[in-house]
Amino acid sequence: MAIDDYLSSLDRALSKMPADVVSRTRFTVPEARVLAEGKTTVLENFTTIVDAINRKPDHLFKFLVRELGTAAKIDGNRLIFQGRFTPEQISSQINAYVEEYVICSECGRPDTELVKSERILMLKCDACGAIRPVKKRFIKPGGGKTRDEVVEGETYMVNITAVGAKGDGIAKKAGSTIFVKGAKKGEMVKVLVNKISGNLVFAEVVGEARDSTKADDEA
Ligand SMILES: [Zn+2]
Repeated sequence: MAIDDYLSSLDRALSKMPADVVSRTRFTVPEARVLAEGKTTVLENFTTIVDAINRKPDHLFKFLVRELGTAAKIDGNRLIFQGRFTPEQISSQINAYVEEYVICSECGRPDTELVKSERILMLKCDACGAIRPVKKRFIKPGGGKTRDEVVEGETYMVNITAVGAKGDGIAKKAGSTIFVKGAKKGEMVKVLVNKISGNLVFAEVVGEARDSTKADDEA
């Protein structure tokens, strides 16, 4: 039997199965293959993971860069981070991403898509129809303390995703909008939080700005 015939008969067989059996048996996040190369850490199967979870490479890329607080670059199927990270650190961030941006919190299935509703990013489930806002609820590995808030006087690595009316760079973190004086869109910067007013956070750059899509050698 030709491989195409085999696959189409497999599809037919799967289409006769209840939807929950299909998605549960089909979905697994591939284990991260991580290795150290000099001062960098390589995630060898980045593309495979992105394909398996059906999200945009750029989205997972930005998430990992932000959460690990480093720079990185995509190199073919690989993602190369500046600095050393353990396989556990990388895996736990990928799992956090999948929890937040892939898995439906109602039915637990991964058959979802990210949609924007009035500028709010929502996770819409194709299996059960549930829709929820994407909300940060990351747990520090080992700690159990949530990082669900931005704290005055603390520093954070943030990704500037927009520019406000007054020319300040805008970043999102833990449900807050952070205004960063002088930061440009696309930059990954270390900021110090000066003032918090409700969901609005005002911060200044304290670490060198760098383009989040490029890795540099300063590490
Ligand atoms: Zn669902």
